[in-house]
Amino acid sequence: MLAFKAYSDPIYLDYQASTPVDPKVLEKMLSYFDKEYGNPHSTTHVYGIRARQAIEKARDEIATVINADAKEIIFTSGATEANNIAILGACRALKKQGKSEVISVSTEHKSVLEPIRALEEEGFKVILLPVHKDGLIDLSLLEKTLSSKTALVSIMAANNEIGVLQPIKEIANLAHKSGALFHTDAAQAFGKIPLDVKDIDIDLLSISGHKIYGPKGVGALFIKKNLHILPISYGGDQEKGLRPGTLPTPLCVGLGVASQLSQAELVSESKRILALRNKFLKLLEESHIDVIINGHLEQRLPGNLNLSFKGIDSKSLLSNLKGIAVSIGSACSCSSGEFSHVIRAIDPSDASNPAILRLSIGRFTTEEEIEKVAKEIIMSIGRLKEKPNERIY
Ligand SMILES: *Cc1c(COP(=O)(O)O)cnc(C)c1O
Repeated sequence: MLAFKAYSDPIYLDYQASTPVDPKVLEKMLSYFDKEYGNPHSTTHVYGIRARQAIEKARDEIATVINADAKEIIFTSGATEANNIAILGACRALKKQGKSEVISVSTEHKSVLEPIRALEEEGFKVILLPVHKDGLIDLSLLEKTLSSKTALVSIMAANNEIGVLQPIKEIANLAHKSGALFHTDAAQAFGKIPLDVKDIDIDLLSISGHKIYGPKGVGALFIKKNLHILPISYGGDQEKGLRPGTLPTPLCVGLGVASQLSQAELVSESKRILALRNKFLKLLEESHIDVIINGHLEQRLPGNLNLSFKGIDSKSLLSNLKGIAVSIGSACSCSSGEFSHVIRAIDPSDASNPAILRLSIGRFTTEEEIEKVAKEIIMSIGRLKEKPNERIY
């Protein structure tokens, strides 16, 4: 158990929104705040040189997880920035070669959808593919949609709300056959499922530190060797001029250690987390409550569950679940109170706005917690079925 978890805090099942920094990661970061504080871009003294060495080690640690070369990795402030650099940078570069279309999917994260929207204003034709009811895209539809004008296909490896894993190897293959580049937002997939950029043949891949037990405010973008993209911000030649600004040494170090740790634990952790999810599902099933599992159950991240409860209001449900920290939809759309665009996309004809719960199980989740959470959800649903508008506070 983590030492800083207060006794009365709710049980944390929101690992897809963010993860705690693993104590092993934190420990390796600390000296880069106060002892090794040199500017990693200073080459005239040991303070700078040692910081630089730590960053290059981290770059290498990230690269090996996806079978890339360290030279193909640039640090960013997170997956949002990595997605912006990849999408805007690649499409603007290809525009000069007469490419004018971008293809993505309606269930993408906003940090992909919004830069793509911005490209529409720059004259690009944007095509957002729909998904099947299981959350997966239709490969034959993608094939038909691709043309010689397609600059980029951007499709996430694992969905942040429903956890489904898109067939990225097949997608990359189709994109390349028609001369387009392939970018994948792997913020949820990196370190959770095996990813090999050479085998899959990925051109651009985004990752985030705080989804893999690393710090917030750091991420990385893989850019395939010899691929030229344009910068979206200016002010220095750091990170090949694509991400100007002084690198945050402690955060980069943390991302490197977190990447290595995820890789080392990937197989055993997936197995343990999947067993917890199955346990939870078994408890739900035995309770006979009315629940729909959103998204393909097998083609899915082990730690994700996304549930719909018909006839129940999301806010009422959440206010009943005081002992559990989960989200309705994604962390990003929770605050705006909008109904999830992902759940809407998997069933556009359903206008009933059911209560949605996204449960994400992680490294520090215990079996006892899963039992408590299942019990609390089952009891709350039972209570709300009797009195749909009841709120506890
Ligand atoms: C969390 C997340 C992001 C954003 O990552 P940040 O590092 O917080 O910018 C982007 N895409 C997906 C799929 C995510 O889950």
